[in-house]
Amino acid sequence: MLLRFWGTRGSIASPGPGTVRYGGNTSCVELLTRGGQRFIFDCGTGARDLGHHLVSAQPQPLAATILLGHTHWDHIQGFPFFAPVFVPGNRITVCAPQGAKRTLPEVLAGQMEYTYFPVELGQLGASIEYHDLSEGVHDLGGVRVQTQFLNHPAMTLGYRIEADGASVLYLCDHEPYWEALWRSDAEPGRLVSILHDGDRRHAAFMENADVVIHDAQYTPEEYVTKKNWGHSTYAYATQIAAAANVRRLYLTHHDPTHDDDFLDQVEERARALARGLGTGLEVTCAREGQQVGVARTENGAALAPGAPAGEAGASRPLRILIADDHEELRHMVRRALLKGGHEVLEAASGTETLALIHSGKPDLVLLDLKMPSPGGLAILRTLRSQEETRAIPVIILTGEGNEESARICFELGATDYLAKPFSLPQLDARIRSCFARAAQL
Ligand SMILES: [Zn+2]
Ligand SMILES: [Zn+2]
Repeated sequence: MLLRFWGTRGSIASPGPGTVRYGGNTSCVELLTRGGQRFIFDCGTGARDLGHHLVSAQPQPLAATILLGHTHWDHIQGFPFFAPVFVPGNRITVCAPQGAKRTLPEVLAGQMEYTYFPVELGQLGASIEYHDLSEGVHDLGGVRVQTQFLNHPAMTLGYRIEADGASVLYLCDHEPYWEALWRSDAEPGRLVSILHDGDRRHAAFMENADVVIHDAQYTPEEYVTKKNWGHSTYAYATQIAAAANVRRLYLTHHDPTHDDDFLDQVEERARALARGLGTGLEVTCAREGQQVGVARTENGAALAPGAPAGEAGASRPLRILIADDHEELRHMVRRALLKGGHEVLEAASGTETLALIHSGKPDLVLLDLKMPSPGGLAILRTLRSQEETRAIPVIILTGEGNEESARICFELGATDYLAKPFSLPQLDARIRSCFARAAQL
């Protein structure tokens, strides 16, 4: 496989004298298999140069599959400037996680309304197909593409492509599920020592990969004030990739405020960290224009197991029970869920929660740990011990999250564990990914 970075910047394009070496265009990475299948991870402003290259240097007509992690601006703004979509005869497939309210063509058409752009989506010359993807394994033009939800304040998919005997992952935008990566009583650096189930699943997804392209927008110092914004630090990406026995890591989605000299330092710090971990992981800050050959290795030969993708069920309205004794929090969450088209049940105590679970049959429960009796833990234990409630996804909400409590909750069968305060888009994305995953089991 051949990889080429066309855009390595996160959030907004940042051209200028300070970003000459790492580049100022937003996310766009091209992957070409030996068999000639072309995948494009995200369509940030880097897609403009890629499109120009494809139209001027490749035989026409051409076919390409665009894999969007999500539809935030920095991942779609290059789409209307991607020249191949204007050329009749070209076949373009666009895949993205199923949206919350609007379909993928509706979202892409939104940024091309006449108010914003002179050509509408329906006027494009190429034949364009759209696919909603959920979590699982997909066959895209004979290539194995595995998807998994990431942790971002929007439904976001990470991609793992296996071709030519090697594996490449694209994991933007994502942030740690939990601040501490390792359990304190276990040996750090190993998958089993990861504290939060979400982070462990993320590591397992990239296990034994040849190349991982990972969000690394912040330094650990910056992350302190950027929590819940949906991005990683180079330290998280490096540690988790090393634990997963990844061979090469490309840090990307660089913060717009990080100039070339700053990114040189990030690369140096990440490499020092990787050396200390002693796994042989190679780390590079991705540069716009950089080209990388990905060949078969011992590592990459192993295919990650994965369930076939089922029905994408994330966008139907859900019946969600909010079990929390804080009226203000219930009120805030209720408003957001109703706006998202969901049905809402509310309980202010443990007794009410259990009664509503049995009478209201919710699709998913948001469960506060500290509630008048019985508390959240006792409720979780009860739910998991009864046949009819065993499979209901439960997202634990906690004001005083700590390692011990997270471990106990996961051992008892919690689906997710989320610290307050959280943002509403973040909660919405976690609800949708939990439910989509549960619906496939
Ligand atoms: Zn982004
Ligand atoms: Zn984003």
